[in-house]
Amino acid sequence: MVLRQSSPAKKPATKPKRPVGPKRLPPAIVEEIFRRFEAREPEPKGELEHTDPYTLLVAVVLSAQATDAGVNKATRKLFAEASTPETMVALGEDRVRELIRTIGLYRNKAKNVIALSRQLLAEHGGAVPPSRAALELLPGVGRKTANVVLNNAFGEPTIAVDTHLFRVGNRTRLAPGKTPLEVELGLEKAVPARYKRHAHHWLILHGRYVCKARRPECPDCLIRDLCPFEPKTPPAGPGVSPP
Ligand code: SF4
Repeated sequence: MVLRQSSPAKKPATKPKRPVGPKRLPPAIVEEIFRRFEAREPEPKGELEHTDPYTLLVAVVLSAQATDAGVNKATRKLFAEASTPETMVALGEDRVRELIRTIGLYRNKAKNVIALSRQLLAEHGGAVPPSRAALELLPGVGRKTANVVLNNAFGEPTIAVDTHLFRVGNRTRLAPGKTPLEVELGLEKAVPARYKRHAHHWLILHGRYVCKARRPECPDCLIRDLCPFEPKTPPAGPGVSPP
């Protein structure tokens, strides 16, 4: 048997960049995190304005790489002119494009809104199907959009992972993962069943307003004592100036 000699020119040990601690949070900590989210906001709501599954679907399709506030501004005008698949198809792609031109990728999104409306009319009697497989066959609809619609419109315990959930899942170690799908599947496993229905909203709002990308508001965070992320943002105080 040949034993490998250790090389004399070993690389110096580098400091780990990732937070130290358990890879995933223990179930008792996960339970406590969601207990606190629920106690503070028992019925969290998404911020995309809609009146039914169809307007929700259109709003979510328009929201890729755009803020909810920006989408709401555009959909107020759009839905005033068309809020059903029939009226949207009748409105036509040119007019839809005009009404949503303040949103990023509006040309492609206008195309998708018309195409998905046509498909809903042709294949689903004008209704939004409550099934992931059918939703993902609609133009412009991917896994994340399907998850949002299944959760918000049909009450399914799906967890849509966007940039905020991806960040929060990794920082808190609720569900560390290298891809949105990995984080989604990790959250599905980690989040206790009774909290799954609202988990997406609690985490998205937490990521948007507290656990922000550039400078998380750790000193004011509801779960700062449970979160293993390091370095946390230090509290502001005399002699402590924010970076
Ligand atoms: S303590 Fe900081 S990093 Fe951890 S969840 Fe709260 S805001 Fe995010």
